[in-house]
Amino acid sequence: MTFHGFRSATTTGLAARCLQDLRRRDFVCGAALIDGSWIAGQERDVVIDPATGEEIADVARCSAADMNIAIAAAEKSFAAWRGLLPAGRSAILRSWASLMLHHSEELAMLLTCEQGKPITEARHEIAYGAGFLEWFAAEGERAYGETIPSHKSGSLLQVRMQPVGVAAAITPWNFPVAMITRKAGAALAAGCPMIVKPAPETPLSALAVARLAEQAGVPRGVFQVVVGDPIELSAPLLSDPRTRALSFTGSTQVGRLLLEGAAKTVKKVSLELGGHAPFVVFDDVAVDKAVNGAMAAKFATSGQDCLAANRIYVQRKLYDAFVEAFAAAVTRLKVGHGLDLATDIGPMTKASVADKCRMQIDDAVTKGARAVCAKQDDVLGPNFVLPTLLSDVTEDMLIAQEETFGPVAAVLPFDTEEEVVERANASEMGLAGYIYTDSLRRAIRISEQLEYGMLGINTASFTGPPIPFGGWKQSGLGREGSRHGLAEYMELKYVCFGDL
Ligand code: NAD
Repeated sequence: MTFHGFRSATTTGLAARCLQDLRRRDFVCGAALIDGSWIAGQERDVVIDPATGEEIADVARCSAADMNIAIAAAEKSFAAWRGLLPAGRSAILRSWASLMLHHSEELAMLLTCEQGKPITEARHEIAYGAGFLEWFAAEGERAYGETIPSHKSGSLLQVRMQPVGVAAAITPWNFPVAMITRKAGAALAAGCPMIVKPAPETPLSALAVARLAEQAGVPRGVFQVVVGDPIELSAPLLSDPRTRALSFTGSTQVGRLLLEGAAKTVKKVSLELGGHAPFVVFDDVAVDKAVNGAMAAKFATSGQDCLAANRIYVQRKLYDAFVEAFAAAVTRLKVGHGLDLATDIGPMTKASVADKCRMQIDDAVTKGARAVCAKQDDVLGPNFVLPTLLSDVTEDMLIAQEETFGPVAAVLPFDTEEEVVERANASEMGLAGYIYTDSLRRAIRISEQLEYGMLGINTASFTGPPIPFGGWKQSGLGREGSRHGLAEYMELKYVCFGDL
């Protein structure tokens, strides 16, 4: 199916029409997948189109008792799943990925309806998400152990990699498909069953992906999606000793709570939390190149991205030219409904995110920043934030101190390399950073000094299945993607054969 998009002056009813179409194709599921059954539940939660606030669907509100059933089912499925040959698990993961790609248009539309991102970005997310399943399908077959040169005569020392057990995933609304497959691809490839608790804002994407998992032959209990209240559903996941691993993507605040909760049963925890990325532009680069990079690093996913450039530091000599070109690019951005093909920037998925953006803009302007905004489309609701460039930002402004998570770009001048490294590192966050310079020596020097888990040098695009995604400091623990991501779901076992 190919979606040709809508061009409409009004956004009312767009998502509802789209969902009607998807319902006819049996692509909207409001039931949770628990122990091989689809559970509609007694109670329901509504799903809204964040662009208009209209209710577009309803989904099951599962209880803690449902989650307990899911944990028991996962535990029961573990022995058979880990007992499959890695090639057997890989074949199922590949088939899941190809079903996702086959239904890319339906998945993308569903994603845009509930999350709000422009349809072209939603399509990209489906391909990106399927990529993790494919990549881990291959990597799961390479979970090699080690043979260690022995320190004892007559002995053989082996290290094996074995699946940790039942894994839980608590996933966010900004990448409602890819953040599930990045975790599930690794867990399932390692031999672990996984239970996903998706964000309440975007359950439809998670459930659609679960239906495709079932069609691909993922056995009962191996991949389950339980939807409902985050606190009620995470409590059993945290307290049950059968849940051996927990992977979370979301805010640092919730990450801390989960880490504390997981401590009681000493789970293996990986956390992908907030960012506050510095984007550093030296005066030896072409302005256009730096502006293109900043546009991509700031405005992808309408700014609702933990990799988003949050502090754009520009060296003084280039500063005015950069701000002028950046402002021109920002004013060209088209704001609208994600289903409108012309849209660059959609609504914020949550009202609280839009409110935080407006609060940061007000704070910065009150303290002396200059604001340039994009043009407003005809009909916009409260969840929309007009893409805004704030120049002359200073470190005392809120936007320079905390993550924005929306389409607001802060530009700050700097003078020297030493100064900008110090300012870039002066944050409790350490997820991603960007450097634009034509000097290779400088790029190498600074990349050594920045306290970030991921760096893009002269590029704003570096994520993907083979890279170890994750942060330093309070941006998280552990890595996703890459062979390091697989290791999050495995335990090392050292075996010493003696008396040989
Ligand atoms: P959040 O951390 O509250 O939500 C993320 C996930 O955690 C969702 O599944 C949610 O249901 C769940 N959750 C929330 N409270 C929980 C609790 N007490 N126990 C267990 N699970 C819980 O994030 P948010 O409030 O939706 O967004 C706020 C901010 O978080 C954003 O502005 C952004 O800074 C950050 N965030 C980061 C990412 C990321 O990609 N790292 C993703 C989403 C949000």
